[in-house]
Amino acid sequence: MESALTHLSCTACGTELAADELHGTCPCCGGVLAAHYDLERARRTFHPARLSERPWNLWRYAELLPVRDPRFRLTLGEGGTPLLAAQRLAHNLGIRQLWLKDESRNPTGSFKARGLAVAVSRAVELGAQAVALPSAGNAAAALSAYAARAGIPAYVFIPVDTPRTILAECLAYGAHVYRVRGLITDCGRLVRRLAGERGWVDLSTLREPYRAEGKKTMGIELVEQLGWRIPDVIIYPTGGGTGIVGMWKAFSELEVLGLLGPERPRLVLVQPEGCAPLVRAFHEGVSTAARWEHATTVAPGLRVPMTIGDRLVLDAVRRSGGTAVTVSDAALLEGMRLLARTEGILVSPEAGATLAALLTLRDSGWLTPADEVALFLTGSGLKHPELLPDGDNCPVLDPDAQEFTTLNEERR
Ligand SMILES: *Cc1c(COP(=O)(O)O)cnc(C)c1O
Ligand SMILES: [Zn+2]
Repeated sequence: MESALTHLSCTACGTELAADELHGTCPCCGGVLAAHYDLERARRTFHPARLSERPWNLWRYAELLPVRDPRFRLTLGEGGTPLLAAQRLAHNLGIRQLWLKDESRNPTGSFKARGLAVAVSRAVELGAQAVALPSAGNAAAALSAYAARAGIPAYVFIPVDTPRTILAECLAYGAHVYRVRGLITDCGRLVRRLAGERGWVDLSTLREPYRAEGKKTMGIELVEQLGWRIPDVIIYPTGGGTGIVGMWKAFSELEVLGLLGPERPRLVLVQPEGCAPLVRAFHEGVSTAARWEHATTVAPGLRVPMTIGDRLVLDAVRRSGGTAVTVSDAALLEGMRLLARTEGILVSPEAGATLAALLTLRDSGWLTPADEVALFLTGSGLKHPELLPDGDNCPVLDPDAQEFTTLNEERR
C-alpha cells in the first residue's frame, strides 16, 4: 500500500506546491492547502476486495493518505470505529434508520486522533523536530499522545478554562502545556508567532494540509461500513469544520475511484446557540463567516468563533443539499443524556449536539421518516466528569441486608 500523493494545491487561488516539503497555508494568498493523489494509480489496489484484507484502522486507506514510508505511520489504533444501528432511538424518534458513528473509541477519546495520527506522521516524515497547536482541548490531547509516540516534544496552547481531565491528559503524555486567557483563536495567534521563532511545526487545523486528510477517513469508513453507499443525511458537530471539509473530499475521491456514484449525503452542520458563526453565514446566504463575538458554550470543541475553512465548509454543506442548525446548551446536554440512557453510549457534549439537531430537524419536517441518518459522535463523555451526573445522592449502604430492605421499602 503506497501513498498516491502527488502534490498540494491552494483551495483559494489554485497555486500548486510540491508535496514533499513542509507547508502550512498558501504562500501566495494564505488559503487552505489540499492534498492531491494519483487516483488512477490508487485504483489498482484501492478496491473493496483488497481493503477487506487490511487491518481495521485508518492506515488501511494508505493510498489516499500522505505518508509515503510505512515506517512513519504512527498508530495507536485510530479509526476503524464502530457504526452502530440505533434501533430503539430510531423507533422512538420515528425515523427509518439511525446510525451512530462512535468516534469516542478513538485513542485519546475523540476523533481528533484521526487528524493528528496523519499530520504528526507526515510532519515527522518531512523532518519535524517539535510540533505545536492551539486547541479547545481534544486536539491538544491527541497531539500530545502522537508526539509521545513519535518521540518528539509537543507544545499545546489551550484556553484557561479547558476541562481539567483534558488538561491532565496532555500533561500525562508529557506535553508542554500553556493555558491562554482567551479562546482557541487567541491560542492560534500565539502559536503562529512562537512556532516561527522556535522552529516548531504548526499543526493548527486547516493551516496545514494533512489533519483534514486524517479526518477524511471518517467519510471513507462510513461508506465502506455501509457496503459502499452513503446515508441520506450526516449530522456533524462543527467547530473549525475540518471533518466536513475532509469527508466532502473523501466522497469525491471515492467517486473518481469508481466506488461511489455522484450521490452525496445531505450534510448537516450543527453549532451551539452561543457560538454559531457558520450557521449564521449559511442562513445569511454568504460565502464566508464573520467572527462570532462573546462565544460561549459547554461544548469546548464547538467554541470556535472563526475558522479559516469557512468558505470550504459552507460550500460543501450547500452543494450537498444540507442545512445548518443551532442547538441550545440544554438541548445538547439532553442529547448526551438520551444517547447514554437509550443506547448505552456515553458521549461528549459536542456529540450530544448531533442528537439535539436531529430532534430539531425532525420537528421542523426537514428530516422525513424515510431518511437514513448518521450521527457523528465525535468524543467521549468520560472526558467531561464535570457534565456527568453527581454520585453524591446515591445511597451509601453498610454491608447489611436489613438496611437495603428498609431502603427499598421506603422507595416503593
Ligand atoms: C474538535 C471537535 C469537534 C469539531 O470538529 P471540526 O471538524 O473541527 O469542526 C467536534 N467534536 C469534538 C468532540 C471535537 O473535539
Ligand atoms: Zn493561494
